[in-house]
Amino acid sequence: MWGSGTIQSTSGEESIVSLSNGNVIKVSTSQLLPANPGILEGVNDLIQLSYLNEPSVLHNLKRRYSHDMIYSKAGPVLIAVNPFKDVQIYGKDFVTSYREKATDSPHVFAIADNAYNEMMNEFHNLNLSCSGETGAGKTETAKFAMQYLASLGGGYGGKECKILQTHCILEAFGNAKTSRNDSSSRFVSSSSPLSFAHCSLLKGKLIDIHFTALGKISGANIQTCKHVLLEKVSSCHSSTLYQVLSLLSCIVSDVDFFVTFEQSRVVQLAAGERSYHIFYQLCAGAPPALRERLNLKMANEYNYLVQSDCLVINGVDDGQKFQKLKEAFDIVQICKEEQEQVFAMLAAVLWLGNISFQVTDKENHVEALADEALTSVATLIGCAPHELMQAISTHRIQVGKDSIAKKLTLQQAIDTRDALAKFIYASLFDWLVEQINNSLEAGKKHIGRSISIIDIYGFESLKKNSFEQFCINYANERLQQHFNRHLFKLEQEEYDLEGIDWTKVVFEDNQECLDLFEKKPLGILSLLDEESNAPNSTDFTLANKLKQHLNSNSYFKGDRGRAFGVLHFAGEVLYDTNGFLDKNRDPLSSEVVQLLSSCDGQLPQLFAKKMFNQPLQSVTSLDTPMQSVALQFKGQLFKLMHQLESTRSHFICCIKPNSKQLPGTYEEDLVLQQLRCYGIFEVIRISRSGYPTRMTHQAFTERYGFLLSEPIVSQDPLSISVALLKQFNVLPQMYQIGYTKVFLRTGQISALEDRRKQVL
Ligand code: ADP
Ligand code: MG
Repeated sequence: MWGSGTIQSTSGEESIVSLSNGNVIKVSTSQLLPANPGILEGVNDLIQLSYLNEPSVLHNLKRRYSHDMIYSKAGPVLIAVNPFKDVQIYGKDFVTSYREKATDSPHVFAIADNAYNEMMNEFHNLNLSCSGETGAGKTETAKFAMQYLASLGGGYGGKECKILQTHCILEAFGNAKTSRNDSSSRFVSSSSPLSFAHCSLLKGKLIDIHFTALGKISGANIQTCKHVLLEKVSSCHSSTLYQVLSLLSCIVSDVDFFVTFEQSRVVQLAAGERSYHIFYQLCAGAPPALRERLNLKMANEYNYLVQSDCLVINGVDDGQKFQKLKEAFDIVQICKEEQEQVFAMLAAVLWLGNISFQVTDKENHVEALADEALTSVATLIGCAPHELMQAISTHRIQVGKDSIAKKLTLQQAIDTRDALAKFIYASLFDWLVEQINNSLEAGKKHIGRSISIIDIYGFESLKKNSFEQFCINYANERLQQHFNRHLFKLEQEEYDLEGIDWTKVVFEDNQECLDLFEKKPLGILSLLDEESNAPNSTDFTLANKLKQHLNSNSYFKGDRGRAFGVLHFAGEVLYDTNGFLDKNRDPLSSEVVQLLSSCDGQLPQLFAKKMFNQPLQSVTSLDTPMQSVALQFKGQLFKLMHQLESTRSHFICCIKPNSKQLPGTYEEDLVLQQLRCYGIFEVIRISRSGYPTRMTHQAFTERYGFLLSEPIVSQDPLSISVALLKQFNVLPQMYQIGYTKVFLRTGQISALEDRRKQVL
């Protein structure tokens, strides 16, 4: 790494340098980089640095970080370095001073304030996108942005009580006890792929906040990106801000809720952990009559719950919580019949785990046992026991024109059974969120202004990288392109288009890497799909196929055995194809969905219907296979990108200063690696040479034209723009006049704004 020092002497290729710690060393002259003068120590915006080099940027950020100045600017991008401790910079006084522009210290509030003003003045829809590795602070930052927007967009008042109740429901269904109760439970430990698998269901979300023409919040809409589906989980609109805010913040602030809402937790638990609270609450708290109707046992009789040897949480009375939950259901107007159906679904999930199979032949094919578990599930979802048995022990395959039922092996049958349990639980959860939003006066159509906050994924490179990392990193590659395009490509194109003189900045484009994923028919996704549908394919044949077709691509690296490498924008990642094919084939068989759709129960029917109505699902009939996971994922990603591209973007780049989640610890190499992979150095370079503020001559004259002290002859907007810039003594190097727009260097617009405010 680097150290700062003073050059004592230079002779040819070598220099003698005395370091600030007193040591004197000999280094090769070409390795020396100029440092910035003291007056530039800790500048707000990295574009102000006279010498732009990696150590200067690192030093500047470190210096600020050590003074709890966690935010800095890199031109238009906000850099947020995670403090891993409470920093007192989010109170009401801070909201006020950013609103009144009393401070120009970089802050997430300042970005949110800009976004809000742009939305109000220029009628744009905007998005704030938070990027960064896991644990870098994306969710926290998004939360602070929302808090700020909420304080601008409305007053308090309304149904606090109702909101608190919804929280109780979401907590029961969405939270679980994990083995680490501190905040670190949210982090994915890089050494354990298993803990990652537990965290893979909900990896990101997009929150739209809608505003009225007067700038008041009129509603909000949450979309979550599940591991497989980016789907609308809820849409809520309400007249008062507090409702929206509480709902959002209870969901957003409760990170554990997002991270732990993993489907796999329903069927698989690690030692010392529990499944979702609701199961234990139901088992402990259901009154006798309900127990009888559901044939409900105690928690210790259900396989899904006993596997982890942890049934209670010290000091928590699950039975009492169940009473509270029922009251909450009443308050959000989920009627008694619906409540009964919810409990029936939960009981069905629990009983599913108790279904066992017996081997019927030498090839390990099985059949479900017709015991109490099987009949209980059948009764609870409303089908005949033999139908359920058929659905979880066989698989229909097409032979010519006929379809025949083929028996599953033990492992396949268990997977099918567990997939059904997970599907019922996840669908139930979505249904509940929908009910809650309806009760919060949701559902009105939104037109007009909005700010979306995107908190999504994060590049992942673990010791062992599997299908999940593959999907996540592919998504990040796309997001990075969006970032590149906005900051570099569009910028440069616009300068050219407007006839503006300037030096081109070269930047890393990742299109070729995206092609490696997306090209048809010879891209990884296509090949993966082909192999997923091929008979007798294995993870080895997949790896070989990839190597055979892609080895000439410079972003692809064939490796020994099952592995292959991809040269991502953020570095090379080695993927192990072990499990790729299984994970890519949707485990939810069409038999199971068909079974649910023919059940008597209202909820099972609804869940099945939703599955078939997925806009992104290619399933039109039950005979065609479900779309593979990777293709569904790609579809969602494109939808998200489309949404991003139709709004104006503001970027927040979250940086993790150390991997131990410690306050006050700044590891230079780790920070450098993140800055490099997000292209921050190029951003700074481009912003230094660019004109970040731009307005059409029309808009410019409409906004400031009335400030002209002397009327000018020509009435065309371009001439008025020029006259305005002259009158305000904006220096020639500080602006450029394009064919249709005025371009201003950083900071110039504020003088004009101040003047305008004084006059108004
Ligand atoms: P990500 O969403 O990027 O995975 P989080 O937003 O959950 O990361 O942040 C991880 C942890 O870092 C939080 O739980 C919190 O303890 C800490 N953190 C992040 N940003 C801040 C902040 N601005 N102030 C205080 N702590 C923060
Ligand atoms: Mg997060």
